[in-house]
Amino acid sequence: AIELKNLHKYFGKNEVLKGIDMTVESGQVVCVIGPSGSGKSTLLRCVNLLEEPTKGKVFVEGIEVTDPDVDIDAVRRRIGMVFQQFNLFPHMTALQNVMIAQQRVLKRGRSAAEVTARENLNKVGVGDKCDSLPGQLSGGQQQRVAIARALAMDPDLMLFDEPTSALDPELVGDVLTVMRKLAEEGMTMLVVTHEMGFAREVADRVVFMDGGVVVEDGPPSQVIGDPRQERTKAFLHRVL
Ligand code: ATP
Ligand code: MG
Repeated sequence: AIELKNLHKYFGKNEVLKGIDMTVESGQVVCVIGPSGSGKSTLLRCVNLLEEPTKGKVFVEGIEVTDPDVDIDAVRRRIGMVFQQFNLFPHMTALQNVMIAQQRVLKRGRSAAEVTARENLNKVGVGDKCDSLPGQLSGGQQQRVAIARALAMDPDLMLFDEPTSALDPELVGDVLTVMRKLAEEGMTMLVVTHEMGFAREVADRVVFMDGGVVVEDGPPSQVIGDPRQERTKAFLHRVL
């Protein structure tokens, strides 16, 4: 589970998150939607402390990660993150990309790391691309390798920041299919996305953010299907 309590984030004098309260229960999928600059990425990055919250508390699996005494590396290890840009090592094969953090961070032996890497590459549908370099793969394949890399670390939960936004439209579906499968398996997921179809079908809750605040939070049928707030209506009008 992820819990945010009165989360504030300033960049200098710019208050980007203005007191966010949000919970993602274990096994749930929460999709965050909202206009550019509303603070969605910053929110996600505060969960694994890629950004340091200015005020408020963040709990991951019941552990307060904003506690200065917490072992943040240990917490980060339990959180998988997938970005818009895939950030694969260009000189390593898909297999090596999925093995390296297992070996370096989890100290897994080479053969164990390779078994786990192959399992996860198979799972996301690129098991036949183990020996390809990222540059030899399509964007959708690269993103699935990035998801496999995150899954190989056995995370308790996954953060996705617009994982399909850099992809050609015809490649988006393959990545969303993998994410849907993960959701069905009960992975806890916090997903920033512009894919309203995915949010509608897969999310347990949709959170609409604007200007650093949560404007609306509820089931997709309500937030997307029948929004109550004018700002949500205006946003959906623009994107749907
Ligand atoms: P998008 O949909 O375009 O990805 P977003 O909702 O993810 O937008 P953020 O990236 O969280 O928005 O940015 C929110 C605000 O914080 C923006 O005004 C941005 O300029 C500012 N910001 C983000 N990161 C930094 C940083 N490292 N330093 C200073 N300002 C930042
Ligand atoms: Mg963003």
